[in-house]
Amino acid sequence: MQEIVKFAYENAPYYKRSFDEAGVKPEDIKTLKDIQKFPFINKKTQRDTQGVGSFLGELAAVPEEDVVFISTSSGSTGVPTMSPFTKKDFDEFQDTESRWFWQIGMRPNDRYVHALNFSLYVGGPDVIGAQNLGALCIWGGTLPSERFVLKTYQPTVIWTSPSYAWQLGEKALKSGIDPKKDLNIKKIIVAGELGGSIDATRKAIEDIWGAEVYDFYGLSDIFGACAAMCEAKDGLHIAENHILVETIDIHTGEILEPGQVGELVFTTLRKHARPLIRFRTGDIGRIDNTKCSCGRTHGRIHILGRKDDMFIVSAVNVFPSDIEAVIREQDGITGEYLIRIFERDFTNKYAVEIEKNADNPKSDDEVAAEVTAALKARIGVKPARVVVHPDGGLDTRSEHKSRRVIDERTLDYSI
Ligand SMILES: [Zn+2]
Repeated sequence: MQEIVKFAYENAPYYKRSFDEAGVKPEDIKTLKDIQKFPFINKKTQRDTQGVGSFLGELAAVPEEDVVFISTSSGSTGVPTMSPFTKKDFDEFQDTESRWFWQIGMRPNDRYVHALNFSLYVGGPDVIGAQNLGALCIWGGTLPSERFVLKTYQPTVIWTSPSYAWQLGEKALKSGIDPKKDLNIKKIIVAGELGGSIDATRKAIEDIWGAEVYDFYGLSDIFGACAAMCEAKDGLHIAENHILVETIDIHTGEILEPGQVGELVFTTLRKHARPLIRFRTGDIGRIDNTKCSCGRTHGRIHILGRKDDMFIVSAVNVFPSDIEAVIREQDGITGEYLIRIFERDFTNKYAVEIEKNADNPKSDDEVAAEVTAALKARIGVKPARVVVHPDGGLDTRSEHKSRRVIDERTLDYSI
């Protein structure tokens, strides 16, 4: 860590300025805890420094000629930011990815479909890690031909988003293919959305496919291989040789103890093209340094959701993932949902829209009452309303990332 902080200070104009302003020097780092003296950066820092002074901007610590790859964030929270990699950064990214694939039991005799978007998305190159491991790799991307690929090539492992894993399974069932009997998928890796870390969602996907589901976590800001589940599926092991994790209070920035829930802050330990020192990820979670039952010693993180997605109802912090967990556990509904957050009488309210299964004999009112009670029991505050649609009535099925939360609070809803 001393090395990378020194490297950043000496080579990235932004860090030189910001450390000088904060009155800290790389030599101040004597123990890991000393990182706490250094200032935070966030997505805005990336945006503000991008393209300033050079194409790669003031956070970059190498000249452009040393950079071989850039990934780009989805821009879902503003201007897309680019993350550069040197050749060494990129190779180490894929070495880490190979390790995660091995961790979930992938071996050279596996047939692997990489069903992630290749266009600028940091998850795209992860297929190289599987290839380096020796698996037979099918660069599926997000082509609309997965069912053909799955049936004809009979792959054993697939990586996609949780919503797509769910929808692909459902579509297969509706078209007369039983994924459990007709296909050979043994393991499904999911990333890009929170679903893989929500037990009920993971189990629902596992039930459709008869396969094990593992959550992987990457950040376009760093690389696609930040953390991954093992067979214990109890949090995600973090790539501790690449990333130092802290959790902080989202309001005060105060450093929290392991186990306490807060915003995850990452410091990259080895990435040279653009080191990130104390990067506020915007993800809420907790660090778990207890021993994992799998025997691996790398610490774990448990991810609860995006800070931006969290909302407060009657003084209770509500994550969309809590709502999803309830919806996915509930019998008689499809598991699709849409959350609306709005204001009434100057307080936040939330409403949930769901789909009733075609063969559910209960009335819409009965279903709505059941879901309301389940949400109240789990979250502590009940929704303002539950709207029941027929199967297929919600327009939330997308190929990649599903939009399931609509924040209407910018509109005037108070009466
Ligand atoms: Zn483990």
